[in-house]
Amino acid sequence: MAQTRTARLMDGSGLARRIVESSTAAAADIRSHTGTAPCLATVLVGEDPASVAYVRMKRARCAKGGIRSRHVALPTSVGTSGLVDTVAELSQDPGVHGILVQHPVGPHIDERAAFEAIAPEKDVDGVTMQSFAAMGFGLPGFVSCTPEGIMRLLDEYDVDIAGKHAVVVGRSAILGKPAGMLLLARDATVTYCHSRTSDLSSIVREADVLLAAVGRPCFIPGSYVKPGAVVIDAGYNPGNVGDVDFESARNRASLITPVPGGVGPMTIAVLLEQTVAAAARQLGVG
Ligand code: NAP
Repeated sequence: MAQTRTARLMDGSGLARRIVESSTAAAADIRSHTGTAPCLATVLVGEDPASVAYVRMKRARCAKGGIRSRHVALPTSVGTSGLVDTVAELSQDPGVHGILVQHPVGPHIDERAAFEAIAPEKDVDGVTMQSFAAMGFGLPGFVSCTPEGIMRLLDEYDVDIAGKHAVVVGRSAILGKPAGMLLLARDATVTYCHSRTSDLSSIVREADVLLAAVGRPCFIPGSYVKPGAVVIDAGYNPGNVGDVDFESARNRASLITPVPGGVGPMTIAVLLEQTVAAAARQLGVG
């Protein structure tokens, strides 16, 4: 019979708070040296309630963290060229240090074209091809916020990554794929799973580090979790439910992220930190 344990919780809220405190101090430092506060431009297309709420939350956190935000709300009727022009203008604007185009922008718009209009030095959400390539080559650049937040959480809890089998379920460009690349860069042996993967359960059962990034509530039952595994649940589904069945998984994992309070707060903390870093570089501070 498998041994029952209770996993230690990975407190993303606490770590995020510490990151935000230090980023707030850095923002104040920039302001006192230059008279200018870091500024994040947020671009929202349409009125999807979840996107509206995400952007509002990000702007509120910016305000608390000493970062100005400039919000651009565009109607759903905006086409690819309208959105690209707006983002290109913000890229040229010296008063804007970071740009966030809220995903998704709608099926009628070429989201990639909009992302590519972000100047790389302002790509604090890590969505451009240049940022992605820099991450792949291990070169300096901004990293997609959620994957970077996940790596910071693993480091906070001294998780040994080198030589371990990391299984990433999900391969989206903003989450699963870059997270796997960051784990690979830290010498994990990485397996990606996706909607066409055969025999998902046997692969997940081999994971020393399991990252769930699917977007389906309780998709991974505790019985799939290898005893002693580290479980990172990036899923965030309606009702504050993750992609892993928390109650059954915590009886097998050694460490596990709660939902909420695990990966979620780390994403916004990294966004603020990267915005302040972008402003520091553009304003020649530090
Ligand atoms: P996404 O773009 O919809 O990607 C979902 C991934 O899951 C895809 O790669 C898909 O495979 C895979 N998948 C779907 N069904 C599957 C199945 N039956 N078996 C195995 N894989 C399957 O989603 P996302 O943007 O990466 O987000 C994933 C989750 O993370 C969502 O719950 C989202 O809310 C959450 N999220 C949280 C944060 C945060 O800050 N905490 C940030 C971003 C996202 P295919 O590629 O084959 O379609």
